[in-house]
Amino acid sequence: MLTQAPRGTRDMLPQDAYLWHMLEAKMRELAALWGYREIRTPIFEHTELFLRGVGGTTDIVTKEMYTFKDKGDRSITLRPEGTAGAVRAFLEGRLYAEPLPSKVYYLAAPIFRYENPQAGRLREHHQFGMECFGGKEPTVEAELINLLMTLLSSLGLTGLTVHINSIGCKCCRPRYGEALRAYLGDRLNDMCEDCRTRFDKNPLRILDCKQEKCKAIVKDAPSILDSLCDDCKAHFEKLQGLLTAQGIPFAVDPTIVRGLDYYTRTVFEVIMQTGREGLALCGGGRYDNLVEELGGPETPAAGFGLGLERILLELRNRNLTPPAPAAADVYVANIGAESLTDAFVFTQKLRAQGVRSESDLCGRSLKAQFKYADKLGVKYIVLVGGEELERGTVKLRDLSTREETEYPLSEAPALIAGLIGKEA
Ligand SMILES: [Zn+2]
Ligand SMILES: [Zn+2]
Repeated sequence: MLTQAPRGTRDMLPQDAYLWHMLEAKMRELAALWGYREIRTPIFEHTELFLRGVGGTTDIVTKEMYTFKDKGDRSITLRPEGTAGAVRAFLEGRLYAEPLPSKVYYLAAPIFRYENPQAGRLREHHQFGMECFGGKEPTVEAELINLLMTLLSSLGLTGLTVHINSIGCKCCRPRYGEALRAYLGDRLNDMCEDCRTRFDKNPLRILDCKQEKCKAIVKDAPSILDSLCDDCKAHFEKLQGLLTAQGIPFAVDPTIVRGLDYYTRTVFEVIMQTGREGLALCGGGRYDNLVEELGGPETPAAGFGLGLERILLELRNRNLTPPAPAAADVYVANIGAESLTDAFVFTQKLRAQGVRSESDLCGRSLKAQFKYADKLGVKYIVLVGGEELERGTVKLRDLSTREETEYPLSEAPALIAGLIGKEA
């Protein structure tokens, strides 16, 4: 138990840190280009926020939340998604009083859901998400989708298509609910228990059921696209025009509803073709009523969330991860106990010049130091000690050419920094 992490969690080990940094750097870079600024919100919030924000009939709220009482008897929940907290911060931080739209992103935010752990689906995972508050035009969704596609394809992923749908608004969705209920009415007995509950509370969620028997029934259900009001229809058509104009491959898919109650109009998923199967990498959508429902001014909004572990898994499966960089550029070897201090001091001088360097911390023999330096993958070894040290010099060995050069001790750090700089 003691040496086993809780089910559904995973450590980020130091040998993988460079991959996270690579992903995060890419996300930061694109977010800045698209004009999104970073926001960081707490890992836990008042449970009420998610009950109201995410929706009481969703799987997330009914089955998957980590909720507990704190010592002050308040009900606290570890955030099960990123949007509700961002909306709360938008309101509490009075971002709505600034010029709109307010465009924010969060990087590697921990997300907690009590799910059955499976490949790429953890109970704690990390999300990159973006939210745009205050933009009602479909250009908002189009730029979010554009950024997502740019990000994923820049990582080397191919076969990407955006699947889009419109789930309507306050005016037209109830009308669709009725049409759906009318269709499902006498078929309900053949559906799963969850769907029978959803039938009364939120029939749209039935379209999202993963049970085969339900899927078979849903296949022939009326399409929500036939029930859209004129405004929703125009919005959806405009979005498609924008995607076409940007050359983004997309497909209209009326079965996408996303497992969250707050969406209005546009919902989307980025699907990657893997053999015959399509794999949903991430998704998002528009949520025009959420800010108001949480007590704020009427504010149209849209966003998406992308699981980092999921993306890393796909990159690994396709051998798209870059090789790990060397842990240091230079190893400073001492040739015995008497030159240990000089080697150690020399290492600090290299670091002061911005050279990533290592020296012995384990009391190794010279031979063992060479072996260790080799494992680190350094380009150079500096030998400190012996006659050279008495002469006031050090020896630099270039491991790729095996050439050795002697440098005066005082000038060596700057000269080595110059060598490394030239290669970088
Ligand atoms: Zn509508
Ligand atoms: Zn079902």
